[in-house]
Amino acid sequence: MFLENYIRDIQGFPKEGILFKDITPLLIDPKGTQECLKTLVSTLKNLNIDKVIGVESRGFFFGTLIAQELNVGFVPVRKPKKLPYETIFATYDIEYGTDTLEIHIDAIKKGDRILIHDDVLATGGTIKAVCELVERLGGEVMQCNFIMELSFLNGREKIKDKPIFAAITY
Ligand code: IMP
Repeated sequence: MFLENYIRDIQGFPKEGILFKDITPLLIDPKGTQECLKTLVSTLKNLNIDKVIGVESRGFFFGTLIAQELNVGFVPVRKPKKLPYETIFATYDIEYGTDTLEIHIDAIKKGDRILIHDDVLATGGTIKAVCELVERLGGEVMQCNFIMELSFLNGREKIKDKPIFAAITY
């Protein structure tokens, strides 16, 4: 089965006018999950990744799986006040207002080669903020990968200088 077939469209979630791409049918199916993981990992062979970052919260699912597959560490980037140790933060614009993401200050060492994973690339605000956090700690973003990219929202324009891979493109 094609990966697209594991993604469910939910009209009007979380609010009217939005077509939400739901990955839970993919997660519930071990074959689909394995297929998606294989696709995401297939592009990472020669990148010598040191750590995988997963973006709260749907980026945690495949982020940890990819890290295990590469035999490297996993680092969570989280919403404010979730991480217990000292953090730095980045704030970015969303439709109405701003959002903030945090990372532990000791999660990345200078020169670490980083893969950032999230479930969806939409407008690109989230991933841009995460790239900024990684670079402020001295890490090098080797790739940003996603289960899917909503290409009509032009998110990749916000991280033009970074390699991007998406298992599915809409
Ligand atoms: P962006 O900052 O506009 O690129 O939005 C990306 C963030 O919003 C990601 O962390 C996603 O988890 C979430 N997101 C946006 N659209 C969807 C969707 O259709 N399904 C699931 N998550 C989404």
